[in-house]
Amino acid sequence: MAFIPYSRQQITDDDIAAVTAVLRSEFLTQGPAVPAFERAFADVHQVKHAIAVGNATEGLHIACLALGVGPGARVWTSPNSFLASANCALYCGATIDFVDIDPHTRNMSVVALAAKLEAARTAGTLPQVVIPVDFAGLPTDLREIRTLADRYGFRILQDASHATGARYLGAPVGSAWADATVFSFHAVKIVTTAEGGLVTTQDDALARELQLLRSHGMTRDAALMDGTPDGPWYYEQQRLGYNFRMTDLQAALGLSQLKRLDDMHAKRAARAERYDALLADLPVKRPARLADRVSAWHLYAIELSRGHDRRAVFEALRAAEIGVNVHYIPIHTQPHYQRLGFKRGDFPAAEAYYAQAISLPLFPEMTEAEQDRVVAVLRAALG
Ligand SMILES: *Cc1c(COP(=O)(O)O)cnc(C)c1O
Repeated sequence: MAFIPYSRQQITDDDIAAVTAVLRSEFLTQGPAVPAFERAFADVHQVKHAIAVGNATEGLHIACLALGVGPGARVWTSPNSFLASANCALYCGATIDFVDIDPHTRNMSVVALAAKLEAARTAGTLPQVVIPVDFAGLPTDLREIRTLADRYGFRILQDASHATGARYLGAPVGSAWADATVFSFHAVKIVTTAEGGLVTTQDDALARELQLLRSHGMTRDAALMDGTPDGPWYYEQQRLGYNFRMTDLQAALGLSQLKRLDDMHAKRAARAERYDALLADLPVKRPARLADRVSAWHLYAIELSRGHDRRAVFEALRAAEIGVNVHYIPIHTQPHYQRLGFKRGDFPAAEAYYAQAISLPLFPEMTEAEQDRVVAVLRAALG
């Protein structure tokens, strides 16, 4: 019985040829593949600027900096996310807080956000940046969050690490509503560059700032310089930036993968739909479907009905060589965050979801036989 992972990258001969071509070329990094990937990603996502970085964590970090997050700033995110959605604010010396989730979408609740903003306005503790997360690939309610952003004066940094190619209100995620949107190309994500990330924005000034910050804060563009070049070698450091660059090897892989984005999406969506049908009579809550948005289906996360022992079901699946996983342990319950003052009970909807959640295997090349086996073991485990 072969092990079925919860996610598995799709690598084709074309991907291998694309990476090999870079290996045989002049540039392994800082060559033409990175801007080519950025241009293609921006076109697919109908957005003006795309800035590639070494991973999404770096993207979140410099996007926070570019949006003005620093010591004394307040940043809010969803507790139902990967650690990086919150860590990025701490890297900048800001204070982090969380907004509980909507149990239906498992994304940041707009109702909870509105209530928390109103309380913060009274207390004089409004956030500078809010980081909604498109959990499992399902876009967040960004139209409503934009209305709140305009009313309360915060910037929106969307963590779309799960949502490459997802659509919201008829437009690709990353093209509208947020000030900046971050994508991840880690091997388990929708499109992979092994490790990799990218920030999109429609804002020219923000894009320039992101380009500076990902490469030491330095520029060779005379238009951006304070001084006058004393020769063609001249460069200037304008900010304290980082080396957060993507290599040409990664970009070539990403560019090759991006050509199959529609196909890989269609395969994920078909498998998600098939899970919906196969699970219909089981005591589990399936992922939400909303008419105004299209999920990228990074994850297929179910919630066992109360009374079912999540741990026992999880262990039964693992014992049957099925690579289930759990997304996510609420960030505020991690020891590092408890030491910052958060405690269990602070965000009950995220905690209730976590207590019953299991992510089932889902990837483009998953076969019907594999899916049937997952559901059969789950059915038996649920009694
Ligand atoms: C994967 C992920 C990240 C971090 O991505 P890396 O590319 O691994 O740094 C951030 N946020 C979310 C929601 C993720 O799933």
